[in-house]
Amino acid sequence: MNHSEELFSRAQRVIPGGVNSPVRAFRAVGGKPLFIERGQGSHIWDADGREYIDYVGSWGPLIFGHRPPEVLDALRGVLEIGTSFGAPTAREVELAEMICSIVSSVEKVRLVSSGTEATMAAIRVARGFTGRERIVKFDGCYHGHGDSLLVKAGSGVATLGLPDSPGVPAALAQLTTVLAFNDFDALRNERWGDVACAIIEPVAGNMGTVAPEPGYLELLREVTKASGTILIFDEVMTGFRLALGGAQQKYGIRPDMTTMGKVIGGGLPVGAYGGRADIMNQVAPAGPIYQAGTLSGNPLAVSAGLATLKRLRNENPFGPLEERGARLETGIRQAIRSSGVAAEFNRVGSMFTLFFTGQPVRDFTTAKNCDTQRFNRFFHSMLGQGIYLPPSQFEAAFISAAHTDADIDRTVAAVEKAL
Ligand SMILES: *Cc1c(COP(=O)(O)O)cnc(C)c1O
Repeated sequence: MNHSEELFSRAQRVIPGGVNSPVRAFRAVGGKPLFIERGQGSHIWDADGREYIDYVGSWGPLIFGHRPPEVLDALRGVLEIGTSFGAPTAREVELAEMICSIVSSVEKVRLVSSGTEATMAAIRVARGFTGRERIVKFDGCYHGHGDSLLVKAGSGVATLGLPDSPGVPAALAQLTTVLAFNDFDALRNERWGDVACAIIEPVAGNMGTVAPEPGYLELLREVTKASGTILIFDEVMTGFRLALGGAQQKYGIRPDMTTMGKVIGGGLPVGAYGGRADIMNQVAPAGPIYQAGTLSGNPLAVSAGLATLKRLRNENPFGPLEERGARLETGIRQAIRSSGVAAEFNRVGSMFTLFFTGQPVRDFTTAKNCDTQRFNRFFHSMLGQGIYLPPSQFEAAFISAAHTDADIDRTVAAVEKAL
């Protein structure tokens, strides 16, 4: 047994499935998960000392790669003064001001500790604000593991083949209506009058990368506005990644509420939800809708987030991220053509997925048509060549600002061999 295998067998004795989040276990692709020992820039090393180019990036947060100096300095600064107080601190105000100035639809924001918390709170607020109970989500979109949202929820759940999770009360699931992503008629035909909110990944990443078709988000904005339904953009993955102001800036849509996570924590646990001031003023203690957190606004987490957003604002790496994405796309499309393999490459900025299917992937139904056995062979071939991709067909991979052209070219060469 190598070190990863030893650790995994110990882990399985004390942790369900040996992991603290299901997709990490490699069940979809077969084999055993690698235990990671350290990371630097775009590279990681496993417990047996093997080096990989990392396209998981902690599942999205690490837009500057591993151990960016600004984040390390910020964390060291906090260690000198104390890691948690449970009382307000200046940094939280600074982070909230920064978020509100970057994301123009967010007039007020509440910090929490995960994306799941952010989406759970946002739908509670939407329900409390509108006095309506039904919510609309979209097939294949994942919004964390809150009960109401764990219905047709994409990757992790799809990977395990569970349509829904046991333990989610039917009564709650019945209040969640699921529409197909990119289905214009479904938006037109829905009866919106009793819907508290529509929550969507404006660019889906949790069924693999799927872009909204032209006009789709615009129509969603139109039908929700007309009916007084709160439109929530779940930008936990896309926020501060597809543009400084997220997908809403990229596509020019103003949602009523936005949920955030991943990049705003800079690799530490931070989530946030915010939006129109009239809605956010309903949150306790300003208003009656309750939501709280012992470690919300935690100094270590907030300082890592602040350092990340400051660097994003100063450096504006979105041009280079797009260029590197385009370089990878050109290389992989060329490799697909010369191999003759049936595959589709979806990419939006620094998010991408190679789908093993002959037809365009525009929703969860077309995503599920993929040849997952073929993906699994591809995944293991890439891993063997030192390229660490998300271990499931239904996930987005991430390019960071630390990836170099040389990383991209090595990756394309590996894809040529793997196809
Ligand atoms: C990751 C993710 C979440 C959940 O965030 P956690 O921090 O894992 O709880 C919610 N929504 C989207 C779109 C995500 O990608």
